[in-house]
Amino acid sequence: MQHPRHLAGDACFLKTLFPHLAELDVQTVADHGTYVLIKATTKRSVAACPGCGTLSSRIHGRYRRLLQDLPAGGRPLLIALTVRRLRCDNSSCRVRTFAEPLGGVARPHARATSPLRRMLELLALALAARAGARLMAMLGVTVSRDTLIRLIRALPDPEFGQV
Ligand SMILES: [Zn+2]
Repeated sequence: MQHPRHLAGDACFLKTLFPHLAELDVQTVADHGTYVLIKATTKRSVAACPGCGTLSSRIHGRYRRLLQDLPAGGRPLLIALTVRRLRCDNSSCRVRTFAEPLGGVARPHARATSPLRRMLELLALALAARAGARLMAMLGVTVSRDTLIRLIRALPDPEFGQV
């Protein structure tokens, strides 16, 4: 068994409970009563172009993504994440600009963080989609039954003989 690490401070507390947030620079955590809003940016300064792999740190612009995360203490947790759009300097590359990847935080274009997506996948498999959507609403996560059905369809088929 691993020995527990004793951490101090609000940032460490947050990253212990939500390890995927360790990939982000959390700027503020605001209690809005019915929900909690985290404002964050990415930590890495360079990212590889998805077209040619060239590393770039040249910022073309920034945009805001709103991600829904695992509920915190029974309340919805939203992450307002500022994402950088970088420029690829390789003149022979077809990609001009690209959004920096978010690692384990979220897939491209996803509205849910990866840990929430995993929870939704398990829930969609365990329950019918309509019941799953109703249960998640009670737990503070807004998700449609169509989304749950899409998540099930996107899962790889279980291998033969797998329990
Ligand atoms: Zn490129």
